[in-house]
Amino acid sequence: MKVYLGEVIHPAAVELLEKHAEVVRPKDYSRGAFLEAIKGVDGLLARKIYIGGEEMDHAPLLKIIGRHGVGLDSVDLKAATKRGILVINTPGANKESVAELAIAFLLNLARRIPQAQAAMCSMPKGDVGVLSALLKQYNLTGFDLEGKSLGIIGTGRIGSAVAKKCIAAFDMKVWGYDPYVSAETMNSFGVTKVDHLADMMPKIDFLTVHCPLTEETKGMVGKKELSLLRKGANVVNTARGGIIEEKALYEALTIGHVAGAALDVFEVEPPDPEDPLLKHPNLLATPHFGGTTEESLYRIGIAMVEEVIHFLQGKPPRYPVNPEVLRNKLS
Ligand code: NAD
Repeated sequence: MKVYLGEVIHPAAVELLEKHAEVVRPKDYSRGAFLEAIKGVDGLLARKIYIGGEEMDHAPLLKIIGRHGVGLDSVDLKAATKRGILVINTPGANKESVAELAIAFLLNLARRIPQAQAAMCSMPKGDVGVLSALLKQYNLTGFDLEGKSLGIIGTGRIGSAVAKKCIAAFDMKVWGYDPYVSAETMNSFGVTKVDHLADMMPKIDFLTVHCPLTEETKGMVGKKELSLLRKGANVVNTARGGIIEEKALYEALTIGHVAGAALDVFEVEPPDPEDPLLKHPNLLATPHFGGTTEESLYRIGIAMVEEVIHFLQGKPPRYPVNPEVLRNKLS
């Protein structure tokens, strides 16, 4: 069996793949080389690359696409299903890493750590008076997370992990907005459900987003929703760019209604380095690396490769995203 691999995955996963399949790699990073390489493959491993119908049509033997991670916005599911191609992902494999990044963002926003770092780098020589002046100049009086309230959009694997950790570590009061998770389930991990996003916004000091990017969630946090937050609230997004409208966030930061924001994900990736949002002094930005820890990369890489190999060997997949493909094959 031939499996395409054109992006970096954990070395242990590459080793496992090489044991069981002929690994097909592109000659270079061009689109032409990608399309040429996938011509005769049975399986395709995709981390950041977009796989749509056009790409699938260049791979007539393709039977399975392995998505490195959980997000599915980089694969055209309808196109895959139409062509009888199974898509699998690796749910849960990176939940602790993304949850920890979201919490790191909360702490950084509360204690203004990037601003404190900038202050240290610009510190003139002098006595302790210099330190006091810097604290004032860089507005370094932060606040505690202890006892504050947190709103979570999307209380699935990552959202619930964030909730549990924030309650255990900081005794935070946590609200959840997720139309697909019951109040009972949310209660089981300490979260109080709200039925409408607008009801949650005025109750919280921090907002963190953990839902997928879909037609329904695109732009769900815009100017109106941000204006409902308490003045001085902070906003975190480690899910997908586009769920929070960047223009509205920039405006809310500029007028000071939102005190700070931390984003791991952007509407366009990589974002334009000249984008005023990126340069805003109260914006903390990272390069979509929420799941990029040694542990996560190992778990995701192994889970994805195992799943693709097993399927190509005729075994049932554990994480089919479009199981109707399997049903259609059986009927
Ligand atoms: P999950 O499927 O376990 O949870 C997602 C939750 O979002 C579900 O409970 C679902 O009901 C909810 N949801 C769906 N539509 C919603 C809506 N309209 N409003 C509110 N909630 C809604 O997924 P997960 O493993 O927790 O991952 C969540 C997201 O995090 C992924 O979709 C992915 O985009 C993102 N992610 C980012 C990184 C990163 O590197 N930054 C890594 C992994 C995942």
